[in-house]
Amino acid sequence: MSNINVLTIFPDIFSALNYGITNIAMEKGLINLSIVNIRDFANNKHKNTDDYPYGGGKGMIMTCQPVIDALSSLENSGHVIYVSPKGNNLTQEKIIKLNKLKNITIICGRYEGIDQRIIDEYVNEEISIGDYVLSGGEIPAMVLIDSLIRLKEGVLDKEAYENESHYNGLLEYEQYTRPENYEGMIVPKILLSGNHKLINDYQLTQSLKETFIKRIDLLIKRGISKKEALLLIDELPNMKKEIQKLIKE
Ligand code: SAM
Repeated sequence: MSNINVLTIFPDIFSALNYGITNIAMEKGLINLSIVNIRDFANNKHKNTDDYPYGGGKGMIMTCQPVIDALSSLENSGHVIYVSPKGNNLTQEKIIKLNKLKNITIICGRYEGIDQRIIDEYVNEEISIGDYVLSGGEIPAMVLIDSLIRLKEGVLDKEAYENESHYNGLLEYEQYTRPENYEGMIVPKILLSGNHKLINDYQLTQSLKETFIKRIDLLIKRGISKKEALLLIDELPNMKKEIQKLIKE
């Protein structure tokens, strides 16, 4: 089982995880989520957790004392993450690495963020969920937790997440369900053939094509094999030269 601690001043927001797969994983005890209210650790009369910034400027900064005391109260804080727009962007590759850790603590900022001394002394890494600014770290923390939970053993079949977008550096192939013909819009015949080898090749080709068209940056990073290049050239013959440049073997 792995343990995820979250430090926040808005613990109730995390009830959003009590649905679907994340809820099932917690009920099965595959993950132990512990939400810590930073305000409970504030040692001032009004339970304040923020103060004015030195040097002036708009907004408030979360103070050291309650955050550090909340962190120190944890039995094992493990790898400490501060979710922040200044961090490295979250990727599936990062999630796969974090999934190997047994103890993770996520600090959620509010206002203009947390005092830099907390980051310097206690934070192992800063992670951003994208190049935009949200009002708090709770949604980024839930994004991180949800994507981690999907990879926990016993939550999903390995096959289910290994074929998903980004797991192996590709976007997922297009998918269809019943009926075969919906008002004249038909499902590709090959998917109904029952020939698993052909279906696998078809899905790999579609996955490569989706990625080539929508996210060439992913293919440049991952590279493609000679076999993959042949499949893709068959699908996009006009792009032969560009596809050949992606071959890495
Ligand atoms: N003043 C900060 C800055 O300009 O970098 C932004 C603070 S933001 C309004 C408040 C909190 O929301 C941050 O402390 C952080 O925890 C969280 N946050 C906002 N945007 C985020 C993002 N893109 N990724 C991760 N966390 C984010």
